[in-house]
Formats: sequence, C-alpha cells, structure tokens
Amino acid sequence: MTPSVSSMVEGPRYIRVHPGDNVAIVVNAGGLPEGTVFPSGLRLHQRVPQGHKVALTDISEGEPVIRYGQIIGYATRPLAAGSWVDVTAVRMPEPPALDDLPLATAVPEPPPPLEGYTFEGYRGSDGRVGTRNLLGIVTSVQCVTGVLEHAVQRIRQELLPKYPNVDDVVALTHAYGCGVAIDAPDAAIPIRTIANLASHPNFGGEILGVGLGCEKLLPDRVTPDAGRNVTSLQDHRGFSAMIDEILRMAEERLARLDQRRRVTCPASGLVVGLQCGGSDAFSGVTANPAVGYAADLLVRAGATVLFSEVTEVRDAVHLLTPRAANEEVGRKLIAEMKWYDAYLRRGGADRSANPSPGNKRGGLVNVVEKSLGSVAKSGTTAIVDVLGPGERATKHGLIFAATPASDFVCGTLQLAAGMNVHVFTTGRGTPYGLAMAPVVKVSTRTALAEQWPDLIDVDAGTIATGERTIEEVGWEIFRFILDVASGKKRTWAERWGIQNDLCLFNPAPLT
Ligand code: CA
Repeated sequence: MTPSVSSMVEGPRYIRVHPGDNVAIVVNAGGLPEGTVFPSGLRLHQRVPQGHKVALTDISEGEPVIRYGQIIGYATRPLAAGSWVDVTAVRMPEPPALDDLPLATAVPEPPPPLEGYTFEGYRGSDGRVGTRNLLGIVTSVQCVTGVLEHAVQRIRQELLPKYPNVDDVVALTHAYGCGVAIDAPDAAIPIRTIANLASHPNFGGEILGVGLGCEKLLPDRVTPDAGRNVTSLQDHRGFSAMIDEILRMAEERLARLDQRRRVTCPASGLVVGLQCGGSDAFSGVTANPAVGYAADLLVRAGATVLFSEVTEVRDAVHLLTPRAANEEVGRKLIAEMKWYDAYLRRGGADRSANPSPGNKRGGLVNVVEKSLGSVAKSGTTAIVDVLGPGERATKHGLIFAATPASDFVCGTLQLAAGMNVHVFTTGRGTPYGLAMAPVVKVSTRTALAEQWPDLIDVDAGTIATGERTIEEVGWEIFRFILDVASGKKRTWAERWGIQNDLCLFNPAPLT
C-alpha cells in the first residue's frame, strides 16, 4: 500500500490510500477552510479538520464510502465532491460473518531471510532473551500490595545502588487473587497471565513471590519454584519482619542478577509487541504501515512479532484469515473473534464501543475504518500462530495474540506472551510506558512529534508530507528496536521513568 500524496508541498494536501477510494484525508495541520482548491481541482464545500475525510466524488445516499479499497460504511446523506465526510455521514456496515471466511487461501511466500542483524541481550537458561535486567516480584493477591510498595521503595533506595548491573525492581501488583471465581473457565486467563509475567525473560529466572496466606490463588500457581521463592505475610511476626524478609530475599536475587551480562544474540531473540492507542486517520497511512514494514523486517530476521487488539482486527478479519499459515491457525483466529463477540454480547456491548471520542476527533468515523488502519501494523507475512489472552509465544514469525484493545490490558497480555520490546503508534498522543519492557512510541503526525519532542521516539508523520517513505521509516524503527533492545538507546518513557500499572484481563466473575 503506497499512499499517493497530493503533489503540492506547501499547499493543500490530501492522501488517498487506494486508487478505488472515494474519500481522502486532509493532511494540513489545522485543517483546511471552505473554498480551498486542491491541485486536482477538488474544491472544499466546508472546512475539513486535519485527518478528516473529504469526498473525492459525489456519493449518493446509501452508496459505499470506500477507504483502503474497502467499504468503511454507507453514506447517510448525499455527499457532494468536496464535502466533509464526518462521523454522522457514514453508517457502519455489518461485521464480516465468521462462518465462511477463506482459510489459508493466500498464504504469503516466506520472505527472503535478513541475515546478520544482532542485539546485545541477556540470554536465559530457557533460551529466551531479556532486553533489561530486572528484579521481578510477583504477587498472588492484592492484599499484599501496600506492604510490597513499602518494600520496593526501600529496595530502590538501599539495595539497588549496590548492584549496578540491575536496571530496576518491578512489583507485579494487580487486583486478582481473592474474591474471584477461581475455578470459572475464564479464570484461566488472569492466572496464566500472572504466571507468564513472572517467568518473563527480563527477570532472569530470579523471581520473588509475595503472598498473604489465605488467598484463593495459591502462590505456587504463579511463581516458578514456589517453595524456594515465595514468602507469605501471615507467616511473619509484624510489619517490620515482613519487610526484613522481603529485603533479604530480594538481596539474594539482586546479587545473582548483578552477575548477568549482555551477550550478542541474533535478532531472532526479539519478541516485539505491536500496539496502537490514541489512533487517528493518519495511523493507517503513516505509523502503522511503517511499523508493518518493520514487522516484515523482524520476521525476515527470525524474530517473533505480536499483533493484537481483537476489536480492531474483527472488522478486517476477512483480510487476515487468507494469510493464516494453515487452516488450523485460521480456525484459531476465528475462534478468538467468536469468543470476543460473545464476551461483548454478554456485557451488553458491541463493537461500536470502539473507537473512542478522541479517535473520532482525529478523523476516524467507526471501528471499520480504525481496523483497516490498525491491521497495517501486521505487515505482509503469513500469520504462523494465534495465542489466547495471556498465553506465551513459542513460535517465530508473525503471531496474532488475542487481547482487548485497551492499551494497558493489551500491553500486559503482550508482556505475558514474552514481549521484550513494545512498539506503540499514536496519533492523538499518549505518554504510555511499561516497567517490564521498553516502549518505543511512534507518532502518526509530525505535529505530535513536535508538540511532544521528549515523549515520541520516532516520527512517522513525515510519510504524510512526502519527506520520507514508508520503507525509510520502517528501517528506522527496525534499527531503533535493535538499539533499544541492546540498552544502547533508552526510550523517552524509560528516561522519564513512565511506568503504567499492569492491568489484568479478567473476564471471569468476582465473588
Ligand atoms: Ca490499544
């Protein structure tokens, strides 16, 4: 997909993504006033904000509105060429039916291998590679959070300075563990999420577990080698004894973690999670295609690439099932869509709950348009596997990891899948960061990169202005990922210490 940018460099510009599109988005910062004439001769009938759509031809009521070469909806009223196609002008189509989708009918050929790309990582005993050296402390219940936060503060102040090779201490705190229907079928999701977080390669197999003693979620379900690694607060005589024991166990592990050294690892050790948040109409023409190009480079280099966010894939799933490596993978993908349809139905919601008001202000009219832009992140290679929420990735190549689109829930589940670098595209802007793995933020618009020069790591907005190509920005993202994975570069979120809380996905009942 190569967007054609209207040719004038300083004058009014729009981007039509696909030759069959009957709408395009306005590029100019601040939007364009009524009466603006584009180089193509198209004249605006009214003001159109930046990133919002303009009708390129007359569209009659009920006729399809086409973007990315796909129907994003139907005109609710006649739209003359040059009209603003806003959220009220487009009726959302039905989602693709899930029962007769083509499976593995257009499996992309394996792309040519990309040899010789490496990064400096911490190799674990199970072969997985860490990108940071962290002391992880997993919890089996929310009751311990306050005590643990006190302990973590003291670990940072008193212990970490003695172990300079350790980057930080991370408490895996959450609201799960008790007061929950622990045997409900969907409880498997939060439980395996916590367990897989605890065995994340950035913790180097030196996890410490803190429990209470009477919780439903037994610490040994989420902590490897629990007999050696867990302390329960009810076993201690008073608060000070609890803190002393956590500090003692932390120091043992810090001493061992401090011995870890980075070694040269092939790029195949990377597990890169892709996500978007605060999307706008540029997401699908600048940042997401550039990230998609980087995803292809990563797959060619043997890495694992995760894309996610079920509600942003659901309306484009008919474009993905043909790319499944085989029918079984295609069926797994459909099963995750069906599970999520039922989950939304159970909650009395549907897919129109996405996009957000900010997405709409950014020019997106509905989730169909958002989805078509979102799946551009997945690049062009075959989908080799599908993970349920919280499952760990075991294959190399492009994987769909089913998650909600909520930024923090998706990030948490991608961490559980083993993500060691996160790439996050944003149009409206979010300061998002995670404690467990570095987050590379890519802006869809140059205006955002200029507004937030100390939060945005890569500006993909230059693709819209024609200054750089998708390929150029894709290579920049790929190289930046390798440097960040190696610890040679730190992301802005890391430099400021921005760490959003983990957010578990618990679709099972509370009790
Ligand atoms: Ca998201």
